[in-house]
Amino acid sequence: MEETSEVCIICGETGKNGITIISGFICEDCETEMVRTDVQDEKYPFFIHRLKAIWIQKNA
Ligand SMILES: [Zn+2]
Repeated sequence: MEETSEVCIICGETGKNGITIISGFICEDCETEMVRTDVQDEKYPFFIHRLKAIWIQKNA
């Protein structure tokens, strides 16, 4: 078992399994939720906002 100390960019929790994308780490809980989240869901803008914030930071 591999331990991760990565911080999820969505929920901010550590020590979870998940995926590392170009701009950070997303735990599997948030990944699942993002995949499930419909564009019309009120949570969708929240996710996009969080991701955009990371991407903008990276590209700066
Ligand atoms: Zn998360």
